[in-house]
Amino acid sequence: MLDRIRIVLVQTYHPGNIGATARAMKTMGLNDLVLVNPRQFPDEDATRLAAGATDVIDDCRVVPTLPEAIEDCVQVIGASARLRSLPLPCYHDPERMMVDAWQRLPDGPVAIVFGRERYGLTNEEIGHCTHQVNIPANPAYGVLNLSQAVQIVAYEAFRQASRQSLAPAPKAARGPYPSAEQLEHFHAHLHRALDIAGFLTQPHAKTEAHLRALFARAEPNRKEISILRGVLSALERTGPAGGGDDIERSTD
Ligand code: SAH
Repeated sequence: MLDRIRIVLVQTYHPGNIGATARAMKTMGLNDLVLVNPRQFPDEDATRLAAGATDVIDDCRVVPTLPEAIEDCVQVIGASARLRSLPLPCYHDPERMMVDAWQRLPDGPVAIVFGRERYGLTNEEIGHCTHQVNIPANPAYGVLNLSQAVQIVAYEAFRQASRQSLAPAPKAARGPYPSAEQLEHFHAHLHRALDIAGFLTQPHAKTEAHLRALFARAEPNRKEISILRGVLSALERTGPAGGGDDIERSTD
């Protein structure tokens, strides 16, 4: 299962951090590394700091955008030193996060996404995540070096794998969970339906960001996403005028 935990680094500035990340991963049995638009890669510093883990950087994938790094993932966890205004579900304990992630691994890969050294992840990138994780640290200075943050998460993955090898967890009753790509299709469909209905009158109102957070907290499974898309299609067919009446009647 450890090979289903994906580490995603977004726009890493120092290639040395990519090498140190590869080493942190290999020491804990992880090997799936994806780099989103790194400033400089391949690079001597990356190879040097990878030490005995050059195979991890040799095998890593480089993609231009975050959605391409995570499209097949059933859980996408953004690692952040700061708490965001968006009410996405947040783990404040990396061990707890891995216990949850393990329940989902039978459905597909789980990605942990790490931000840039200087300014972390953008709100838009956090918007592509289903969860956040914050590594508890000194309140006066709690920002870890990128590869050290990866090390802590990787260590928790390794510990969870060791626990599971003693007593395999039963498969989660709620799944299977949708992939990030299926969730994106749902959000695109929701956007179209809301747009046609004339609901999105203020493009800067963050309404869609709040709806994303709401669905992330609800954690719909694949069947529920498919029902929701059926609902949207039915409303689209009915059109804005008739649709409104139907919604009112259905609350009786
Ligand atoms: N200056 C940036 C932090 C960059 S550290 C900021 O204020 O957001 C680089 C990356 O390491 C972060 O984007 C995050 O993914 C990870 N990281 C560092 N400290 C962390 C912590 N305490 N909890 C979770 N992730 C952390």
